[in-house]
Amino acid sequence: MSAFNKEQVLSVRHWTDSLFSFTTTRDPGFRFLNGQFTMMGLEVDGRPLLRAYSMASANHEESLEFFSIKVADGPLTSRLQKIREGDTILVGRKATGTLIADNLLAGSRLLLLSTGTGLAPFASLIKDPEVYDRFEKIVLVHGCRQVSELAYGEQLVAGLSEDEFFGPVLTEKLVYYPTVTREPFRNRGRITDLITTDRLFADTDLPSLNLETDRIMLCGSPSMLEDLRVILEERGFAEGNHSEPGHFVIEKAFVER
Ligand SMILES: Cc1cc2nc3c(=O)[nH]c(=O)nc-3n(C[C@H](O)[C@H](O)[C@H](O)COP(=O)(O)OP(=O)(O)OC[C@H]3O[C@@H](n4cnc5c(N)ncnc54)[C@H](O)[C@@H]3O)c2cc1C
Repeated sequence: MSAFNKEQVLSVRHWTDSLFSFTTTRDPGFRFLNGQFTMMGLEVDGRPLLRAYSMASANHEESLEFFSIKVADGPLTSRLQKIREGDTILVGRKATGTLIADNLLAGSRLLLLSTGTGLAPFASLIKDPEVYDRFEKIVLVHGCRQVSELAYGEQLVAGLSEDEFFGPVLTEKLVYYPTVTREPFRNRGRITDLITTDRLFADTDLPSLNLETDRIMLCGSPSMLEDLRVILEERGFAEGNHSEPGHFVIEKAFVER
């Protein structure tokens, strides 16, 4: 049996010159936990060209969704950005990843800290009813350079807020904090600074970072992850994984090549 399924593209949406999202059919046998990633890509010259991708859809949804960068000379995304409805993509049969609630110790507040396409696994997690059962408050932070790069996340949260089931849950439990570094916007600054200065908590009227109550998931650029790891470890937070749950878990949104 092949290591991947062939799926049909159902819809494509371009958000900016460098970001797009698309939905595809989903093989009924493809199971994953919200927050996980798989290998996804295209057949190029008769061979699979695959990259790691987080599912932005939740595991209760019938179709799959991905939120993708467009790298001009990227082997995969220079091609993937041209896909259209009806095209075929390859999706791995296995999902994996550390951004799952079971890798965290019990806590009452969940911080989801992302930059760029690092939002993708959290797009899945904020559609997971179990996450709202486990945590009293979920704070979703999405950092980008430009305001236009926030659009996917803004529409996702706006859509969920209008949903019959999720609407009331989001109002009670989800705090969405988009932030921008290179343009004027209501929230400005890097996630590291927002945490160290306490501004994230002051702006949202929430208590400061607390080892007893806070559990954290991080997904972004390698440098953002490294900086945040240092900040968290200095405050006593320990990293969790599949064998030992911790106060925070990390997934790279991409690897520098
Ligand atoms: C665990 C994991 C999950 C991932 N999930 C996603 C996802 O949900 N969406 C997504 O778009 N990408 C994701 N990626 C990155 C993805 O695997 C590819 O790197 C990306 O699709 C570009 O592929 P490429 O072949 O075009 O270029 P590559 O040769 O893979 O990358 C070229 C360069 O582009 C830059 N780059 C690559 N990906 C990104 C990115 N996402 N944001 C900013 N810069 C980037 C890096 O500098 C990299 O060196 C993930 C990576 C990992 C490790």
